Amino acid sequence: MTEDMLTLAKPLTDILANVPDRYDMAKIEAAYVLAYHAHEGQCRQSGEPYICHPIAVAASVASLGLDTDSVCAALLHDTVEDCEGITAELLCERFGKDVATIVEGVTKIVSVSIEDREEAQIENIRKMMLAISKDIRVIIVKLCDRLHNMRTLGGKKNSDRQREIALETMYVYAPLAHRLGMQRIKLELENLALYYLDPIGYAEVTEAIDRRFGTSRELLASARTKIEERVASYGIKADLEDRIKSVYSLYRKIYELGKPFEEIYDFYALRLIVDTVEECYMVLGIVHEMFTSIPGRFKDYISMPKPNMYRSLHTTVMSRDGIPFEVQIRTHEMHETAEFGIAAHWRYKTGEAASKKSDEVDKQLAWIASLIEADEGTRDPDEYIHSFKGNLFREEIFVFTPKGDVISLPRGATVIDFAYTIHTAVGNKMVGAKINGVIVPIDRVPQTGDVVEILTQNNKGPSRDWLNIVTTSEARGKIRQWFKKEKRPENIELGREMLERELRRLGHAFTPSETNEIFTATAERMGMATLDDLFDTVGYGGLTLSRVAVRLKEESAKLLRAQATATEAPKTADEAAMESIKEKSRVRASKKQSGGVIVDGAEGCLIKFARCCNPLPGDSIIGFVTRGFGVSVHKRDCPNAVSGVADTSQASRWLSAHWEQKTETQSEMYEASVSILTEDKIGVLADVSIALAEMKIPVHTINVAPPKDGKAIIHLTVGCKNTEHYNAIVARLRAIPTVIRITRN
Ligand code: MN
Repeated sequence: MTEDMLTLAKPLTDILANVPDRYDMAKIEAAYVLAYHAHEGQCRQSGEPYICHPIAVAASVASLGLDTDSVCAALLHDTVEDCEGITAELLCERFGKDVATIVEGVTKIVSVSIEDREEAQIENIRKMMLAISKDIRVIIVKLCDRLHNMRTLGGKKNSDRQREIALETMYVYAPLAHRLGMQRIKLELENLALYYLDPIGYAEVTEAIDRRFGTSRELLASARTKIEERVASYGIKADLEDRIKSVYSLYRKIYELGKPFEEIYDFYALRLIVDTVEECYMVLGIVHEMFTSIPGRFKDYISMPKPNMYRSLHTTVMSRDGIPFEVQIRTHEMHETAEFGIAAHWRYKTGEAASKKSDEVDKQLAWIASLIEADEGTRDPDEYIHSFKGNLFREEIFVFTPKGDVISLPRGATVIDFAYTIHTAVGNKMVGAKINGVIVPIDRVPQTGDVVEILTQNNKGPSRDWLNIVTTSEARGKIRQWFKKEKRPENIELGREMLERELRRLGHAFTPSETNEIFTATAERMGMATLDDLFDTVGYGGLTLSRVAVRLKEESAKLLRAQATATEAPKTADEAAMESIKEKSRVRASKKQSGGVIVDGAEGCLIKFARCCNPLPGDSIIGFVTRGFGVSVHKRDCPNAVSGVADTSQASRWLSAHWEQKTETQSEMYEASVSILTEDKIGVLADVSIALAEMKIPVHTINVAPPKDGKAIIHLTVGCKNTEHYNAIVARLRAIPTVIRITRN
């Protein structure tokens, strides 16, 4: 290796040097040499040599304590995708099957743009889960990859892309890290994502932390010393650690849950790490003896671990000076798991022990497999995304079987969900349930501590209504599977009935052959091989009716249009004008993410135009940084903006904004809303429509308020380029004799 290669690799070699016996250095060196030469000449957007990225990723992987193969895979993770001549086969030959599998898995997880079709997003998440299920180290390497990309996100030139990556990090990767128990990575990912998504909120919270911590630092330090001395006097050896809640979790509590900063009790936590479980409970007793505990805040995650393996005792106490703080008590082993989650399995283990799968790894793999399986029956993208997120974020309750086993369920789950959690067969045979010995309706939601018993009967299947009652995707998936397998003829019949009813609702009597034509076209568009497949899927609930209804409507409109042009029916002037307007509005100009607006200090944030005032280029504007990761642009004289700027508590969120310089040939259209007060005469709407059609103005919505005192008001949203264009539209509309007044709202 050259001097240069050694210098570049320093971030990794420094970490490996601490644990010299754990790693096969020759293998890692070989992987490095291959990666180095493969990426030679490539640069990151920041200008650094590309190899710095795989080195940093490998360093994270090593600092988590993962094995030699994972470190090699991290070094090579971008080679198959980005470098010529390097294939998975080659890696398999030179570094073994595991390294090749991990690299291939990481390569398959491509980032999808949030603007991509939802089907593409689902496919992607599915692929990701499949790759992870092959080897869980795939996701650990991928998370380290994402972590380094987030740490260096400032180097990306394209701010739209920055935002997309930050969003994906917030919604997919941080929750995955959380579910796998990797708190340290999860917290850093969330904080970094927040920094890009709501820079102002980030700064506000950081300042608030400094202020609050500044005033209580000494008092908390003295409480800490007192606890340390007392615990030592009992002969217990404890390591103490301070923890301040992360910027993002404070941000969520303050802005999303609307809690005032003063009411956040776990803002500061003192961690005591001891040797045994017994000592955990002793320390808890000591702390409760010294300080008043706050009721309802004691949590025993040792006897009831969280689904992501987290174990610890939590309690909140009040210091003598009236400052509440949290105390977390755990053993060293629990601490490792809390920080590193699934990765803790590999820490400090070598050879045999590391390659042997632990129960925890198995449990997590089973969870991933259940996610993939449960969603197999779903073809509905909304539901898929919803259930995926639900599965990652779920909050748990704990109930008991009559035998005393603890079963964890997501909050809100019903007794049917419970039955399917026990076993698919129990769910399918369920006829009723008892909670604490009392018979309950099947939509009952059990609470933590309840004893739930399921009453079953052979030869009994689930009911279709259950699909609307259950709340977990696992149960829904299993019910659908049952219907899919057992009841195809019934499903087909039911599905056909549902679709025919839907078609009748459209208000046109189609002949049987027309109906068939529409159904066939719909089945084709939904990717179904046959008509029966479409009916079957709708029947067992794999596709929601509302999703199919949209397509049905489109296909029947298409059929009617085709028939109309064939007969060439003469049209009235009104009809012709309206149709041409509708046609135009369909080809609505697409807006860029920035919408042609520059908001100072919020580059890259998503720009939305406020509905209350619909600003147009030429208007004087101002931006408001919303809590939901975006900027909404108002007219400067919009009443909401005027009162908002005056409100000192949120003044810093209002940023000056201006329109990008436009060229003469600007074609982008914005929405402008217009109210027209007219005399209530026949043909008024037609006059307005014709005037707009003549000016080639796309109309997005038209509403006519019921006439009053011989006057009518027409509300319109139209496409409009800028204020000048708007004035021209208004001038043309004013020329209509029946128009009395025009206002922009
Ligand atoms: Mn990478």
